[in-house]
Amino acid sequence: SSKGLIVSFGEMLIDFVPTVSGVSLAEAPGFLKAPGGAPANVAIAVTRLGGRAAFVGKLGDDEFGHMLAGILKENGVSGDGINFDKGARTALAFVTLRADGEREFMFYRNPSADMLLTPEELNLELIRSAKVFHYGSISLIVEPCRSAHLKAMEAAKDAGALLSYDPNLRLPLWPSAEEAREQIMSIWDKADVIKVSDVELEFLTGSDKIDDESTMSLWHPNLKLLLVTLGENGCKYYTKNFHGGVEAFHVKTVDTTGAGDSFVGALLCKIVDDQAILEASIKTVILYDEARLREVLRFACACGAITTTKKGAIPALPTVSAAHGLIKG
Ligand code: ADP
Repeated sequence: SSKGLIVSFGEMLIDFVPTVSGVSLAEAPGFLKAPGGAPANVAIAVTRLGGRAAFVGKLGDDEFGHMLAGILKENGVSGDGINFDKGARTALAFVTLRADGEREFMFYRNPSADMLLTPEELNLELIRSAKVFHYGSISLIVEPCRSAHLKAMEAAKDAGALLSYDPNLRLPLWPSAEEAREQIMSIWDKADVIKVSDVELEFLTGSDKIDDESTMSLWHPNLKLLLVTLGENGCKYYTKNFHGGVEAFHVKTVDTTGAGDSFVGALLCKIVDDQAILEASIKTVILYDEARLREVLRFACACGAITTTKKGAIPALPTVSAAHGLIKG
């Protein structure tokens, strides 16, 4: 295929979601298995939209790991960057929204296979062939996957890929908030494109009064595009030359899981699709034209919105025709 490759780096895991809503984990009568992990969701978002994607990460050499690899394959995502760990098991997450409105998390990661990816195991040939290298996971937390993460990022960047970052802050996974902020900021200035949620923006700026000025305090000289996703309020975009907002589409939302990943996958697809961008170095031109950018973000918002209309992340990721259907109304 002539489409540019999007490589997504990080973890893939299984979310165990209680079969009834509004209960604590201890009260759950049973669980549904929902494959997820933001980087894997992004890779599948890309292929669902007709793009080309590879997932790079490590799974356990167990039932769950092979199930996840199978899901990537079924969805047309290249598994050439997947390693299986002989010892550690696939990461698992138990997540529930309790009756009191609090989210309760429990993780199997002590350590899980994804955290054991080493720099030596990376498929550098695959990584160097990426037009876009996306990362967005908790793989910064511990060694050896932190070193693998940094090496993969550098290899992709040296080979000319566009770097895309989504911090995917899930505080329960970090040893402390301070460490989370430090680790996120330690790779902040490498990325060409960054997508944060409004919650992450508050966390990273340390301010609950978010405006254009406090948002731009996170700007760095290498950055081409900063996006802030706002759920049912759409998104905001910032470039060196202009900034603005794109409204969300009205849909019947049942579960917002995966909306941000769908948004990112759609954005990255449009970036590698754009002939003008590909012909003139992907890095310099992304955002030469505000009208073009707004069109791309409308598409990304439509994809995000559709993803909220079905339960789960992966089953809810849209095709191009579904996205166009919503855009045309
Ligand atoms: P994140 O998962 O990063 O917090 P959001 O939940 O903000 O991301 O979702 C990403 C995008 O998906 C939003 O910018 C918006 O365009 C769309 N979206 C999310 N939730 C809704 C919703 N309830 N209604 C319509 N669109 C939504």
